[in-house]
Amino acid sequence: MIRFVRYTVEDSTPQWGIVNNDNRITDIEGDVFTHYKVTPNVVDMDRVTILPPCEPTKIVCVGLNYSDHAKEMKLEKPADPVIFLKPVSALIPHMEDIIYPESSQRVDYEAELALVMKNTVKDISEDMVDINVLGYTCFNDVTARDLQAKDGQWTRAKSFDTFAPCGPYLVSNINPEKQPIRLYLNGELKQESNTSKLIFKIRRVVSFISKVMTLNRGDIISTGTPAGIGPMKRGDKVEVDIGNVGKLTNYVR
Ligand code: MG
Repeated sequence: MIRFVRYTVEDSTPQWGIVNNDNRITDIEGDVFTHYKVTPNVVDMDRVTILPPCEPTKIVCVGLNYSDHAKEMKLEKPADPVIFLKPVSALIPHMEDIIYPESSQRVDYEAELALVMKNTVKDISEDMVDINVLGYTCFNDVTARDLQAKDGQWTRAKSFDTFAPCGPYLVSNINPEKQPIRLYLNGELKQESNTSKLIFKIRRVVSFISKVMTLNRGDIISTGTPAGIGPMKRGDKVEVDIGNVGKLTNYVR
């Protein structure tokens, strides 16, 4: 397992590093997507500001990818993955605030496992997926549930600025489909499942999306949320906690 992190120290330019077991970061030179070199420089985690784990051109999300969630939404299990987009302008890192919009009275959390594309690809088969994915991260598919119901389509409900918290790390060399996934609201467990319960597995999802649109290096795909979705209030602390992938923390304001 390798845990990459993108960060700044004070006002430095964005930097990539590897998180060590002692919670310090070893700087790397170059680009985690192609070639990089480990440097001797080490920095303490508490001195850095963590950035989103990539700079995507788009965020593609899968709806209804756990059968328990499809059931709670009173929707049929779909025959093919249901996909939608979130704008890149909604992306925020670990520890940044989710801003509660005035036009909504119900803003929900959705804990999700996301992946980051390593290469730009189009039309790939399921066997070509693994070598084109760089790693995995935590994602909170924040949703204005009342506006989702009112509009009938999901763009407004899913797209407010700050509605795509993602991070803190980009983790490679793990089995993404054997990870416990949990969401805590103010420390209380609200969602609990395992990524082994995905209806459409990661290879299927990525291959399927690549047959619709070109996936660019750094693009994020979020794989859907399990049952237990629910509302957040201003002042809440929300944490997406996924096995070896990490724990993404944000506050609502
Ligand atoms: Mg979702």
